[in-house]
Amino acid sequence: MDKNYRRCISCRKVAPKSDFWRIVRVHPSQELQLDEGMGRSAYLCQTEACLQTAQKKKAIRRSLRVPERPDIYQLLWERLDKGQPS
Ligand SMILES: [Zn+2]
Repeated sequence: MDKNYRRCISCRKVAPKSDFWRIVRVHPSQELQLDEGMGRSAYLCQTEACLQTAQKKKAIRRSLRVPERPDIYQLLWERLDKGQPS
């Protein structure tokens, strides 16, 4: 796989990483954050369907093996709202 391609943790679609939200388990603090930081990352399509699936399956926690930050999905939902044409 090309290094600039990533797989969505919900639907398993492969796409350029710029298409996805990036959730990072920052090293060494193990804190979760969005977009920035060095560490293991999970990628998620910027869609309602994939966000919903990820939340239901606890996909971020399973992918990154850390307790989920309670507000991480909330932040993504807010992004989704902002990203949609009004
Ligand atoms: Zn997806």
